[in-house]
This record gives sequence, structure tokens and C-alpha cells, in this order.
Amino acid sequence: MPLSRMQIQELLDENHEHTCDGYGCEHVCVKIAAIADLPSRFGQFQVVAFYNNQDGKEHAAFVHGDIWDAEDVPVRLHSECLTGDVAGSLRCDCRDQLETAMRAIGEMDKGILLYLRQEGRGIGLTNKIRAYGLQDYGYDTVEANLALGFLDDERDYSIATHMLDSLKVRSIRLMTNNPKKLNALRDYGIKVNGRIPLIIPPNPYNAFYLQTKAKKSGHMLDESGKEHLMEQRDRPIVEGMTAEQIIQFGEE
Ligand SMILES: [Zn+2]
Ligand SMILES: [Zn+2]
Repeated sequence: MPLSRMQIQELLDENHEHTCDGYGCEHVCVKIAAIADLPSRFGQFQVVAFYNNQDGKEHAAFVHGDIWDAEDVPVRLHSECLTGDVAGSLRCDCRDQLETAMRAIGEMDKGILLYLRQEGRGIGLTNKIRAYGLQDYGYDTVEANLALGFLDDERDYSIATHMLDSLKVRSIRLMTNNPKKLNALRDYGIKVNGRIPLIIPPNPYNAFYLQTKAKKSGHMLDESGKEHLMEQRDRPIVEGMTAEQIIQFGEE
């Protein structure tokens, strides 16, 4: 059962009045601003729009099934990637990860995908494209990777935690391939009861994951020869990866 009209009204009313000291050291506070049905190609969802008090970014939760007061709700965190999510860029695999997670949640009893508006993991679209541009001219990719991949995740977790609290989720199972994320989220006060691996189907565009040689050289190149960048916090497991590769991914 999706959120009922009464539940929606209750959420909107209490969020309208909501104030708090904020979550995390940046004191992020989010408020549910609007909710609507969202039938999608991945199943029946409701979309919940969140406003936040920090930077005017509007985050979204895609909610499937009865999550009200629910335990063990499957949750996926996805950071916005305009080039991947919208244009199907092959410089990253955000689109594959997003679609796989949405499809998986749509087929489950219930689940939530939190869509966090943190393009390029917080550096913004322009800086991300700048980093891409540098790579196109053959600049060292270390700089690009630093900018894209290794930012502090602290803010992500505080927003996600607040969003889950606002949605009245009691406990979750996190869709991730990295067991370390479970404790990181617990530190923010989320009751994490387990983990669901995210396994994406193999396709011509993620074949480089399956090539150990590419991995060993320290670079994963896509078909065009451009280095593939990690923009989501979780690396995907591609069907067909060896056990060794999977373990290696989880440890990094
Ligand atoms: Zn708040
Ligand atoms: Zn991406």
C-alpha cells in the first residue's frame, strides 16, 4: 500500500511546522514540501520532495509500498549525476546503478531511493565538467578523481538520515556493496538491520569491470578509452565478476 491521503496530509502538516537543530555538523534540516503519485517504468512509486535549509537544493525520495512506521525498509542512496542519470554518460555508471536500484525496489514489497542533489558528489556540475574537460586534454586524472570521488560523505549521511526520519522509517536494509557503509550510517543514528547487494547486469558499457587486467593497471577504461570515474559512493557489482573482484571492491 502506498502512503494514504491521510498519511500524506499528516506528513505535510507536521513538516510545515517542523524545526530542529539539524543533523550532522552542518546542521542540515530538511522538510517534506510535497508528495505525489509517480507511476514509473520501474513500478508504482510516490515521489516526496524535500526542501533543505542549507543551499536551496531540493532532494527527492522515491517511495514504493508501505514504508510508514516500517522496519527493514530497503533503501538506496543515489547522488545526482546529470550526465549519467539523464544523458546516459559512460564516463560513470550512475545511470546503470540508478535503474538497477529503481527496478529492484519496484519489484520488492517496499523500498525507498533517496535521490540526493549533490552533483559530482558536491562539487557541482560545472566543476565536474571541468574535471572531465581536463581529462579530455590528457591531464592527470588524479585531480579529477579527487574532485569527484573522495569527498567527505558526512553531509550525504546527515541528509539521508533526516529524510528517513521525516518519512517515519523505523529501520532499513541498505542497498550497497560496501559493508562499511552500514556502520557509517549507524553512526548517524539510522537503525540498519542489514545489507542488500546491488548487482547490475553486464552490458557492453560496463565490461571493463569484468576485466581484471584493466583493474590491475589502476585504470578502468570505457570503450572510448576514457577513464571511467566513480561518482556514486558504492561501486557496482556486475554479474560475472569474480569473488576476488567483489571482495576487492568492498574493501576499497
Ligand atoms: Zn529538521
Ligand atoms: Zn555519474
